[in-house]
Parts: sequence; structure tokens; C-alpha cells
Amino acid sequence: MKNVLITGASRGIGAACAEAFAAEGWRVFVNYNKSEKKAIELCEKIRQSGGDCVPIQADVTDAAQVRRMVSLCAYHGGIDMLVNNAGIDFYGTFEQTEPQIWQKVIDTDLNGVYNVIYTALPEIKNSVQGRIINISSVWGVHGASCEVAYSAAKAGVIGLTKALAKELGPSGITVNCVAPGYIDTDMNKIFDPDTVSDIINRTPLSRTGSAKDVADAVLWLASEKASFITGQIIGVDGGFM
Ligand code: NDP
Repeated sequence: MKNVLITGASRGIGAACAEAFAAEGWRVFVNYNKSEKKAIELCEKIRQSGGDCVPIQADVTDAAQVRRMVSLCAYHGGIDMLVNNAGIDFYGTFEQTEPQIWQKVIDTDLNGVYNVIYTALPEIKNSVQGRIINISSVWGVHGASCEVAYSAAKAGVIGLTKALAKELGPSGITVNCVAPGYIDTDMNKIFDPDTVSDIINRTPLSRTGSAKDVADAVLWLASEKASFITGQIIGVDGGFM
């Protein structure tokens, strides 16, 4: 059985990834930070469907908590696949992005990815076919007005992905990135119906995305079929411009 650690798997895209991997027979380490109840309920659902999963609390911005999480994964058989999905957004002008807000977004969305990869890499290197998939964003590619900190962090994740893919290729580890467009999750609950309509109008496939749309792409990148793909940024955005 292969093991996948998914950060921020209590809700949204991470939870959809957890269900998708479990349905394909992976043991899933369901990382969560604050949403313990949701993580436990998700694990119960996965187990009822015959899947194998372990909920693990850790704040990805806290190196000590990340070390504890990775130790638990090692105890349960190691890490073959890491999906760096945990993230937060801040919506507001650049002038409203006070230093502590900037720091929190960069700490979670970029430094959190560093923390988890840095700590989990020895486990991933132990795997016969180690892989890392980072969740960036369409805003990391294009930049978004009123989401400067988020765009900067997500662009950083893209740079990290491309550079680390080069460095880890000789070890047989692939590193790729999925860059979702607008996906229907809690993260986007702040947007009013007019804003959502505007986004749909700018999306050639004329709809918003689902968490499952992203999970399907992540699962494909984790599959044998993607074994010669590394350093890539895969948009799951309906063609959003
Ligand atoms: P949600 O807000 O629905 O879920 C966020 C998840 O991240 C939760 O499970 C939350 O855990 C976890 N999380 C947040 N901070 C931390 C932390 N410090 N440590 C550990 N876990 C943490 O977001 P989405 O599912 O929409 O987003 C998932 C990823 O996809 C994010 O990286 C996001 O930036 C990215 N993305 C989302 C898009 C969208 O349109 N929704 C578009 C592009 C990218 P808990 O609740 O337990 O605290």
C-alpha cells in the first residue's frame, strides 16, 4: 500500500483529494489544523468505504508540529506522495495588507510548503517512487488585484516547484504543481453572486470548478501515467483568462 500525506485535508480541495486517493487504495494521512471535527468525520467516511486513513493535526507554519506530523507518518509506513494543499487567502487592497497579514499569508502558503517538504523529504526519498504535488493558484501565474500577498506566495510555490523538480529529478522524485482557477469551496464564500458571474463569464468552459476537478488532476499526476512529468504547472481553471 502506498501512503500519501495531504496537508489541509479537513475541507475543500484537500478533502476531495483525500477521498480520491483513498478510493484508489492509498493510505491517506489527513492533515488538519483547526477543523478537527471535519477531519475525523472525513476519516470515518473513508473508512466506511473500505479506505485507510489517519487524521493528523499540525499547523504547517509550525516546524515542531510539522516534525511531529512527519514522525507519525513514518510510524505508519512512510510517505510516498506529498500533496501540499494547506492554504489561506487574504482579500483586500495592498494598503490593507498590514505586515502581520502579509506575514501570515506568506507563512502559510509559501513557508508552510517549505516546512513540510523540508521535513518530509527523507521519507519521500525512501520511497521507490516519491512524488510531490504543490497546490498553487491561477493567481500565482497571472497575479490578482486585491490578492497581492496570496499571488506572491502562490508564485513562490511555482518557483519552488520548478527549481526543486530539477534538484530532485536525479533522485527519481517528481515535483509538480496544480494551479486551480475559481473552485467552489469555503475559501471563496466571501464573493458575491455578481463577482462569481463575472468569473464565469471570463472562463471559457463557463462554470466554476469543483474540488473534485482539482483532485482528479492531482490523482492523475500521482499515477503511473504521469511518471515522465516534472516541474510542470497544470492549470485546472476552465481556461480562465
Ligand atoms: P479551504 O479554505 O476550503 O480549506 C483550506 C484548508 O487548509 C483547510 O483544510 C485548513 O485546515 C487548511 N489550512 C489552513 N491553514 C493551515 C495551516 N496553517 N496548517 C494546516 N492546515 C491549514 O480552501 P480550498 O480547499 O479552497 O484551498 C485548498 C488549496 O487550494 C489552498 O492552498 C488554496 O490556496 C488553493 N486554491 C484554491 C482555490 C479556490 O478557488 N478555492 C483556487 C486556487 C488555489 P483547518 O480548517 O483544519 O484549519
